[in-house]
Amino acid sequence: MKRKIVLKDIEIEYSIIFKNKKNISIKIDNKKDILVYSPAGIAYEYLDKLIIEKSKWIIKSMENIEKGNLVEEDRVILLGKYYETIIKKSNINRVFIEKDKVIINTVSLEKTYTRKLIVDWYKKIATDIIGARAMEVSNKISIKPSKIIIKNQKSIWGSCNSKKEIRLNWRLVLMPYAVMEYIIIHELCHIKHMNHSKEFWSLVNYYCNDYKKSKIWLKENGVMLMNLV
Ligand SMILES: [Zn+2]
Repeated sequence: MKRKIVLKDIEIEYSIIFKNKKNISIKIDNKKDILVYSPAGIAYEYLDKLIIEKSKWIIKSMENIEKGNLVEEDRVILLGKYYETIIKKSNINRVFIEKDKVIINTVSLEKTYTRKLIVDWYKKIATDIIGARAMEVSNKISIKPSKIIIKNQKSIWGSCNSKKEIRLNWRLVLMPYAVMEYIIIHELCHIKHMNHSKEFWSLVNYYCNDYKKSKIWLKENGVMLMNLV
């Protein structure tokens, strides 16, 4: 069901999806639709209030989705930096960086096709870049995982299981190094503490004392990155 609220001059429309869950979560998809997942029985007025409270974040995220529209705006993001793209029709597919530009040689200029080429390129370089960074960080802080797996995850940045396996989202390659490093440290610290207790956060803080900045960055840009590709 859809609801509309007016905030200053901006009209915000959002969809409510009732689910069998404990918490309320707000998501913005790449069409800029606002989706509110809520347990059944929550009053609409309460959800309106929540949207108003989160409006700054919602508006900022919408702007980022607009700005970040990958192929249309002829730029791609890598390690938190935008690169201009040059898309050329070719008889082979090849994506590479040359003098601060990302060159996309493609057999088809069709948008969904070039978009897929870019995503494949991201995934390929992500394994090397994130893998190397995770090994470096792990050595630096002397917490060793049994395995580091770079994965395609649509809603989380990373995870750690009881077998000490760390899974990291390939989208970490889109972020500035500092934010990527925070996520790696966060997951490595879960090897010591499988929770988000005070002890866990003080360990994260010990290895990454400006982690709060990275958390803010993720709050402002995370939705855009998840929806980008
Ligand atoms: Zn965690």
